[in-house]
Amino acid sequence: MNILDMLPGDGGQGPEQPADAICSRKGCRESATMALLWNNPKIHTAERRKIWVACPGHVEWLEDYLKSRSLWKATQPLSPKDSA
Ligand SMILES: [Zn+2]
Repeated sequence: MNILDMLPGDGGQGPEQPADAICSRKGCRESATMALLWNNPKIHTAERRKIWVACPGHVEWLEDYLKSRSLWKATQPLSPKDSA
């Protein structure tokens, strides 16, 4: 595995969805069940969607965080592994 693939940030292209979906909340190691789509117009193009994933306990926290910054776009169930 390329170590660069594991680094967070804005270097990637297209919506990225971690294969091993672990909650994006700092310090949380729970499995994520929800995906939060967001966009920062100051650094992203309008079509760009960043994705955070969240465990049930943190989806509200992350949604609130994004909404308070006007970055939030959508919250949707995280597709299970069999989403082919
Ligand atoms: Zn969490």
